[in-house]
This record gives sequence, C-alpha cells and structure tokens, in this order.
Amino acid sequence: MIVMKFGGTSVGGYEEISNAISIVRQRLEKKPVVVTSAMSKMTDLLYNIAASADKKQDTKLKENMDKLRERHIDVAEHLLESNVEMMLQTTSRINEICDELEAYTKAICVLGELSARSKALIISYGEILSSTIFASAMNASGIKTALVDAREMITTNDNHLKADPDIEKIRQCVPQIISSVDQDTEVVLTQGFIAKSKNGEPTVLGRGGSDYSASLIAMALDAETIEIWTDVDGVLTADPNKIKTAQRLEKISFEEAAEMAHFGAKVLHPLTIEPAIKKNIPIYVLNSKNPQCKGTAILNSKYIADGAKSISFKENILVINIFSTKMINASGFLGKVFDIFSVNRVSVDLISTSEANISVTVEDGQDIHKVIEELSAFATVEVDTGKAQISVVGQNLINQPGVLDKIFAPLDKERIYMVSQGASLINLSIVVDKQALNDSIEAIHNAFFA
Ligand code: ADP
Ligand code: ASP
Ligand code: MG
Repeated sequence: MIVMKFGGTSVGGYEEISNAISIVRQRLEKKPVVVTSAMSKMTDLLYNIAASADKKQDTKLKENMDKLRERHIDVAEHLLESNVEMMLQTTSRINEICDELEAYTKAICVLGELSARSKALIISYGEILSSTIFASAMNASGIKTALVDAREMITTNDNHLKADPDIEKIRQCVPQIISSVDQDTEVVLTQGFIAKSKNGEPTVLGRGGSDYSASLIAMALDAETIEIWTDVDGVLTADPNKIKTAQRLEKISFEEAAEMAHFGAKVLHPLTIEPAIKKNIPIYVLNSKNPQCKGTAILNSKYIADGAKSISFKENILVINIFSTKMINASGFLGKVFDIFSVNRVSVDLISTSEANISVTVEDGQDIHKVIEELSAFATVEVDTGKAQISVVGQNLINQPGVLDKIFAPLDKERIYMVSQGASLINLSIVVDKQALNDSIEAIHNAFFA
C-alpha cells in the first residue's frame, strides 16, 4: 500500500485533476490511498470568506461564495463532460456543500462573531469540495474509488486551527476504516488538512497540513512509501522562487527534511516527517507537471552523505532580547522564560544566551503580547523587528571543512545579529536585516552549490 498526496496546484483545475488521475492509474497495483488538498488558492479564499463573515461584509461574502461555487462547478463540468449523469450528480453535490457553507457563513455574519472552531469549519470546505470532484472524476474514468471522510480517521486535540493529532486513535481508526470499504475498491481517496477533535468539533492541522495528514495515514497503514505530488521537481537546494539556480536534491535524510521545513522551506509541512520516521517510511517529493522526473527521496540518514543540502529562510521574524542581571546562574531562570513562551503557544526558533541576556527568534504574526508582558515582570525585554533568518541545513554540517567560511565570508559587509548552531549539528542559522536577505541567500547558495 502507498499513500499519494496531491497538493493544491496538482488538483488546481480540470487538466491538473486529469493528470493526477493518470498518475494514480499507473500505481493501481500498489493500492494507493490518495490524499487531496483543496484546489489551489481555495483555502485562501475560504479565509477571506471567514473574515468577511466576521466583519459582516455581506456583499463581499456573497461575491467570494459565488467565486468558490463557480470555480468548483466549472472544474466538475469540464472533467465530467463525457458522463452527463455523473456531472449532474457531482454539480448538485457541490451546490449542496456550498449551500451548507453559505448558511454557516450567514449565521456568522449575523452574529458577527467568529470563533477558532467556526473558522476551522469554514476553511475545511476546500478539501471537502476538491475531494468530491476528484473522487467523481476517478470513478468516471473507470477507477473504482471510495471517498472516505478524513474527519472519521484523524482525531486531534481542540487547538482548532493547528491541531495536534491523537496518534494512538489514528493508529486504531485508519486501518479499520480503510479496510471497511467495498471489496472491489481500487483507490481510497480522502482529504488532507481536515480533522475532528475528540468531542467531534472541526479542526485543521495548520496551513499546508495535507502533507502531515498523508504521513499520519501512511504511518497508521504501515505504507510502503509516501508520495508528495507538488509543483516543483522535488526538494531543492533553496526555494526556487528566490534562487533561480536552485538544484534538485536526489536524496536527503528525514532529519534534514524536517529541519529545512521547520526553518522555512514550504515544500513540506514541518511535521510531515515525524510519523514517517516512526515507521521508517520513505517519502518521495515529486512533480505532477513533470512526473518522469525522479524527484527527491527522503530516507533514513544512513543512506545520506554528510554536508550542506539546502538553504532555508524565514522572511519575517522578530528577535526578542531578554536581559536580566539575575539570570543565567540562577537555577530555573531559563525554564521560567521558556514556560512563558510555551503556555502562550508562541514557538521559538533560535536561541542564544550570554551571562545576562537571552535572545530568541520567533516568526512574526504570532501574538506575542502576553509573552512580552509576562517576561517584563522580571526582565528587560526588547523586540527587534525587520529581521530575517537564514538556515543552512545538512547532515553533520558543522564538521565539514570550510563551512563557516562559506556562510560568513560572503556576508562580510552585512550585519549579523545572531548566530545559532543547532544542537544536532545539522543546521547553522543566522539573523540578518530583512533588506539583506535576498543577496545573502544568493551569496551563501553560490558559495555552497555553484
Ligand atoms: P503544494 O500545494 O503542492 O503543497 P506548496 O506550495 O505547499 O505545494 O509547496 C511547494 C512550493 O514550495 C514550491 O512551489 C516552492 O515554491 C516552495 N519551496 C520552498 N522551499 C523549497 C525547497 N527548498 N525546495 C522545493 N520547493 C521549495
Ligand atoms: N489546503 C490547505 C492549505 O492551503 C492544506 C494544504 O494544502 O496542505 O493550507
Ligand atoms: Mg504544501
């Protein structure tokens, strides 16, 4: 059994879905479980729908709802044009789903109150709609496909918008549900991203969470491999949007992939690796627009050579400097500081300490008000804005000759605010001015990979 996940651009229109179906068809003997994202840009549109409902902007809400409905109807009509009965069935189902969502959003518009729970419900509709179309098109193309609701398989805690999966429950549920489909089913198709809390409330796994869903399902099924179908040739030496000369990596380790993703490479959701590593399931990152390309294999570290693999970055970060004279030597001080971040669910990326100072970086956009308030009760706190973070990732990176020179020599004119070497020797990160980010990444990328 294999798990195949198709991202937003890989199911973004009727041609893309047809192409995804032919990719699945070539793997039928491997008994694929297919995990689909929402069609590209639809989750963003649903966020806008939620925001306009919250702000009681009913005209804008209606416009966006129409856009959502029309895009899905249009794709279904094109995909199913040779099977009128199926087309009518599917478009009527899309209309039912959109009517249901419209009713919720109108209720929110009246109340003018949007909880995390209602937001999770609204943004889950992208995957509900795409999976409806994808499953119909699979069946219409002659592949017997069962559409299984991911919310029955993926149970989480009640952190609605970035929920933590209940691994034990998932391990029990997924095989049971998958094995209960009709005997003659060739493909089980389900949604990524969406889930349900123990109390049955709607939850999602965070932006880009479909990769994580695929990996959780693969873990529960002891799958042979996980295929992540996306819009680039694999994991590259840098984000191709920033570095045109970025090169495909043939293979990388689980740890390298996790580190790259955690430090900003959007190609995988940062938690995707965790379930796969538990069962040692290889992950292949593949290009649905170029399926002949071998992509990138993410494997156990014993198959991977040492050395730098990729440059990741985060464009908008904050550096929080915490000063206190009673600090480092006082036992429990660091614990107290990091408890504050943890209780307020602000995640810290880099840490560096000195006798009287701790500096940490956090991604901008998180609500840090409470953290600052609580830290200020016993320390002086300064927040630096306008900074960006660059991370060089690679197995045994720090022990490679010349690494520091390759990172720092190209930046001799830039101010470096922080340096942090990952405890695992797999990553070295620096903080620079945001304006210096592009040139710095390019210079470091050239030093390692040109
Ligand atoms: P999907 O919708 O298929 O999940 P994403 O947009 O989430 O696709 O992820 C793929 C994108 O990740 C690529 O188009 C690329 O712009 C970006 N990306 C960032 N860093 C890297 C990297 N190191 N290697 C490959 N792609 C990267
Ligand atoms: N549709 C969700 C998002 O856009 C999940 C995913 O695509 O992985 O974030
Ligand atoms: Mg993604």
